[in-house]
Amino acid sequence: MASSHPSSEQTSASYQRWQCISQCGACCRLCPEEREDALEALSEADQATYLAMVGEDGWCIHYDSGGRRCRIYESRPTFCRVSQLGQLFDVAPDDVDAFAIDCCHQQIRSVYGGRSREMRRFNRGLRRTDV
Ligand code: SF4
Ligand code: SF4
Repeated sequence: MASSHPSSEQTSASYQRWQCISQCGACCRLCPEEREDALEALSEADQATYLAMVGEDGWCIHYDSGGRRCRIYESRPTFCRVSQLGQLFDVAPDDVDAFAIDCCHQQIRSVYGGRSREMRRFNRGLRRTDV
């Protein structure tokens, strides 16, 4: 996932939890020109895996565009797993939710637009937790 820096609101009083939404798939658009940061963060072996997954249309070859889902979800590469984001981008554990939210915002904006239904659904799905 490409991102620069977490921008989602995070205060000492409350905390937004990242949550994926169904029927999105924005992060499965792998076009290398659009995902330079993500690609750079990967090891050489993972870069090769990533590039082998890019289809002619820029989407992952494992992505079911009709159903908007991953066909190999259970065995998808580790770099597709949000739980690995912190490690990949060297993000502190407390900042991983904000970072993941920022990545999703960036990806959804790029694929569907900032005022898209997907963006609204994603934002509605975020849970604010008091800490
Ligand atoms: S962009 Fe975010 S919300 Fe959309 S499928 Fe990927 S992880 Fe889920
Ligand atoms: S392997 Fe699955 S989760 Fe990873 S980019 Fe492809 S379709 Fe998306």
